[in-house]
Amino acid sequence: MVNAQSKYDIQTIRNDFPILGTEVYGKPLVYLDNGATTQKPRQVVEAMVQQYYTANANVHRGVHHLSMIATDMLEQSREAVRRFIDAESVQEIVFTRGTTEAINLVASTFCQQEMQAGDEVIISTMEHHSNIVPWQLQKERKGIVVKVIPMADNGILCMDEYEKLFTSRTKLVSVAHVSNVLGTINPVADIIRIAHSHGVPVLIDGAQSVPHMPVSVRSLDADFYCFSGHKVYGPTGIGVLYGKREWLDRLPPYQGGGEMIGTVSFESTTFNAIPYKFEAGTPNYVDATGLAAALEYVEKIGMNNIAVYEADLTQYALQQMSQIEGIRFFGPMEQRGSVISFLVGNIHHLDMGTLLDRIGIAVRTGHHCAEPLMHRLGIEGTLRASFGLYNTYDEVDALVAGIHRVSQMF
Ligand code: PMP
Repeated sequence: MVNAQSKYDIQTIRNDFPILGTEVYGKPLVYLDNGATTQKPRQVVEAMVQQYYTANANVHRGVHHLSMIATDMLEQSREAVRRFIDAESVQEIVFTRGTTEAINLVASTFCQQEMQAGDEVIISTMEHHSNIVPWQLQKERKGIVVKVIPMADNGILCMDEYEKLFTSRTKLVSVAHVSNVLGTINPVADIIRIAHSHGVPVLIDGAQSVPHMPVSVRSLDADFYCFSGHKVYGPTGIGVLYGKREWLDRLPPYQGGGEMIGTVSFESTTFNAIPYKFEAGTPNYVDATGLAAALEYVEKIGMNNIAVYEADLTQYALQQMSQIEGIRFFGPMEQRGSVISFLVGNIHHLDMGTLLDRIGIAVRTGHHCAEPLMHRLGIEGTLRASFGLYNTYDEVDALVAGIHRVSQMF
């Protein structure tokens, strides 16, 4: 703990995030809802303001100066993403609205082209709704079958059962890298290796991994990988779908419109090269600038340093919280990310969350968009504290003291 803390200039980091110095109900804000969204450093906001003030024009279409600058900036942002997730080519980086849109893009185009009624997709028990519902929509539309990797009581996927789910009809596996509820870090390299041994490609939902650990899509050999900008200290409304070149070339367009075309007549249309084939309409180029600034920001601190700092902070939190009478944790105690889901005695999660809020502590309550997982755990919801790179040991102490105080009221 001391090591990670001393290498890590937490106060300088916190100074970059103006909102962390604010108060709620007259109490200093303790923001522990980073799994839902993260706060933004000045560097991100300023990069976007700067572009609006000095370099705003629609991209790709204009011969004029500003348009060329804006186009260059968009392509530099794509390169920043490529570097960050270690993709081979910028052609493999598609900008989307976020993780949800990226998964919908793959579900829609992959099912349209690669799947017939009766073909199967494998997901897991701990998926976010955004990695369940798009497949169910395809079940309705196309008659595909959705199979689910079971989970043990300790929040770990049953890998033996996973292997048994493959049949000659299995066409795709789609699982989260890190659970947004349990914090479980899934063995995605093994999940991918096993799928590939059956000739099946894999989509990884990286919404909860990319902000917290170094990710190399090439080392993982992922076929598709996606994440959201707003969870990695970037702006809302932008995210990324990585797809191996051969897959993106092969899949049909998702939406039709400007930018994604080669030539258009009333009779027929040819499509642009990847990644533009999947980016219909004016891209969210200013948010792409903000996302690139966010990735540069975390790269400067170092993804390994962030991972070590957050792991130590989470271990400290688990230790301190385990002393609270009647506390129940959901998820593994090791091999976990910086998300802690818990309940205390029979206090309703909503009551506890509301009272913590009154003392300035922001946590998430409810089913966390993972209702099937709640059913598996036999509960309605949990409280969830999720840490980011700027959270402190003092904030953990404030959370623990807050839970004690609220518990005594019941
Ligand atoms: N997957 C996981 C694991 C998530 O945690 C979330 C966000 N809570 C999403 C997908 C959806 O992300 P977004 O709403 O940014 O599209």
